Amino acid sequence: MEKLYYEDPYQKTFTAQVLSCEPGKKGRYQVILDQTAFYPEGGGQPYDTGMLGGVKVLEVHEKDGHVVHETEAPLTVGGTVAGEIDWQRRYDHMQNHSGEHLFSGLLHRHYGYDNVGFHMGEDEITVDFNGPLTMEQVESLEREANEVVYANGPIRITYPTSEELEKLEYRSKKELTGQVRIVEVCGADVCACCGTHVKQAGEIGLIKILGMINYKGGVRISMLCGRKAMLDYERKQKTTTAISVLLSAKPDRLVESVEKLKNDSQAKDAAINQLYQRLFQTLVQARPDSEDWLLVKEDNLTPVQLRQYCTMLYEQKKGKVVLVYSGENEEWKYALGSADVDMRELSKKLNAVLNGRGGGSNLMAQGTFHATEGEIEKAWEEIAEASCRDIEWS
Ligand SMILES: [Zn+2]
Repeated sequence: MEKLYYEDPYQKTFTAQVLSCEPGKKGRYQVILDQTAFYPEGGGQPYDTGMLGGVKVLEVHEKDGHVVHETEAPLTVGGTVAGEIDWQRRYDHMQNHSGEHLFSGLLHRHYGYDNVGFHMGEDEITVDFNGPLTMEQVESLEREANEVVYANGPIRITYPTSEELEKLEYRSKKELTGQVRIVEVCGADVCACCGTHVKQAGEIGLIKILGMINYKGGVRISMLCGRKAMLDYERKQKTTTAISVLLSAKPDRLVESVEKLKNDSQAKDAAINQLYQRLFQTLVQARPDSEDWLLVKEDNLTPVQLRQYCTMLYEQKKGKVVLVYSGENEEWKYALGSADVDMRELSKKLNAVLNGRGGGSNLMAQGTFHATEGEIEKAWEEIAEASCRDIEWS
């Protein structure tokens, strides 16, 4: 089988003879041709998609030395078909793959680390290196890599003899057997690779590092190159502009602006919290002391506020057991407190009757009910009555 993607990685269309076509998984067909421009998955680079004889090619994999095209419909064995790869998808892969080589090569040269993992995803590519780096070091590498792109040197593919290979210094993920394919990027990197690459470094376009995390004693760097990097810039530019308009702040003042907003919001939260404490104190003091079971509904309280209010009510002896709840029709949050009765047991009983969830300590339980207000009142009355009977009998 002739691999046209190695002869010319820029070949978008071709004709081929169908050597075999067999039913595969998921209702697809597995097609083998005498030659193909479809790159199968390999070396971290995803497979090509496209059209073959008028039917969709959904996946391409290499099996036992054959490139197997998974098609949507069967093709006639022995027939000649026209093929076309999804060029944008392939070129994105070429830009990103060549950019990754360049970046990994420079990183290897400066710090001696190896690329130990490579994944090309839809939104970003990730590269894992087996040593630690700082963000400043990564930014410096990014600038250097882009300088190499501007110089627009050639990216060469060679197939050295074993003698030549012995003298050659190159990066490789594994011990290689058979003919080794070497990709050399403008004197910045030499690496064994089976993927497709652009011809000139300038075609890589922008190389942009998106982030870095510590990973397995080294780092995982996410990046994008070429058109994908441009689209990412476009998205981020739109986001920045939208936030800038929302905050009425210049793009270079956004961080300060958000910090101020955050601080203002925290100060407001603190002031609101103080007002609620005073409100709860006033409401609690207005109630008579009581040994009854107390049910209180209050609008728009957060779980923290429900707990505070409930605690004040039972600690200041406004009820033996206190249930405070807040929310809207059939969607309630509650806090249940008492100094005398075990709240874990009681919340279990209420949850069972009121389609609820949650729990807590013997003093305080919190959770949610999914019931009507009437159902909550009824359940509370019944449980209160039953408990009083239990106590009288004991
Ligand atoms: Zn590669």
